[in-house]
Amino acid sequence: MSKVLYFNLNYYCNCDCVFCAANVAPAFSLSKPQVDIFDFIQSFEMRDAAKGDIVLLSGGEPTLFPDLEWLLKYLAMKPVRTCIQTNGMRFSDKEYAARILSRGVHQLSIPLYGPSSSSHDGLTRSPGSFEKTIAGIENLLSLRQDYAYEVVIDLKLLVSRVTIPYNLQTLQLIHRMSPGPDFVSVKHIVVSEKVKRNERQLVPHISETKQHVNELVGFAKEHGIELTLFEIPLCLLTEDNILYIIGTHKNRHFVNAPLTCIYGDYAVNNLQLSLCSVENCLSKDRCSLSTICPGIEISYLQYLDASYLTPRPQPPVGKGQGQLSSDR
Ligand code: SF4
Ligand code: SF4
Repeated sequence: MSKVLYFNLNYYCNCDCVFCAANVAPAFSLSKPQVDIFDFIQSFEMRDAAKGDIVLLSGGEPTLFPDLEWLLKYLAMKPVRTCIQTNGMRFSDKEYAARILSRGVHQLSIPLYGPSSSSHDGLTRSPGSFEKTIAGIENLLSLRQDYAYEVVIDLKLLVSRVTIPYNLQTLQLIHRMSPGPDFVSVKHIVVSEKVKRNERQLVPHISETKQHVNELVGFAKEHGIELTLFEIPLCLLTEDNILYIIGTHKNRHFVNAPLTCIYGDYAVNNLQLSLCSVENCLSKDRCSLSTICPGIEISYLQYLDASYLTPRPQPPVGKGQGQLSSDR
């Protein structure tokens, strides 16, 4: 079974998002907590990374980590696939974007929190962040096209009470991009201690999540957009939408369902957690979707009304022919 080795490289960011689950300091803060590069290597070497494993670099904002290019060069010598979760703003500098792509990164995952400056910047509390993120995305997509870099680029929608009102319009904006990303991932908000302090404003009820995600998948299905769900149980979807999600997963090696996630940072060394897993679902043994379901984020369990999780005893079949994608 493949592993995800998840590393937070730093705890500072050039945004200040209202829903941020990490305890980040502003980028201009005097003390900037970050991982020591030698600790990183030691921690990485201890984890026996094998072919097919994924190294996920996150933060804070990993592109503000001063040794990132050095780190990518080191990881390029290993049999792993390297994925960076970033707000994309630094890629508005095209030279920087070209340097990072040339280091051999395999996936860049960038969130959009709204379809305009007013919505996105309002949530990141960072004026100009939308423009920079969009410029960064455009630079990455055009560099990849011009120089044939083998990098997967996905744009991310967050399911939270404050982003749900914008997500459909954001998906429409992404659909108009040319060239566009490889796929769009839809991710549930992590209910960290920090998020819990604003739980009512931020954390959707599972019924809201269900309605919203079905709307997004419905739009994607209509327009042929590939969607990947993270931390959103498959059984929340209608039968047709489940078939669409299963049938359009081209980037399966980055789907988190059957993976072990090992979470590491300089503060919590060697801690192993299954942050999001079907193991968190009590009905998994009765469910035919359990091998492909993204599962449930552990932090969301206490908010969950388990009656919404409806195990499917039989795999869904396409209309008439039993083919997964027959209703696309
Ligand atoms: S961009 Fe990410 S790390 Fe930075 S404040 Fe926003 S959610 Fe937190
Ligand atoms: S019942 Fe459990 S395993 Fe089945 S789709 Fe729902 S969350 Fe996933």
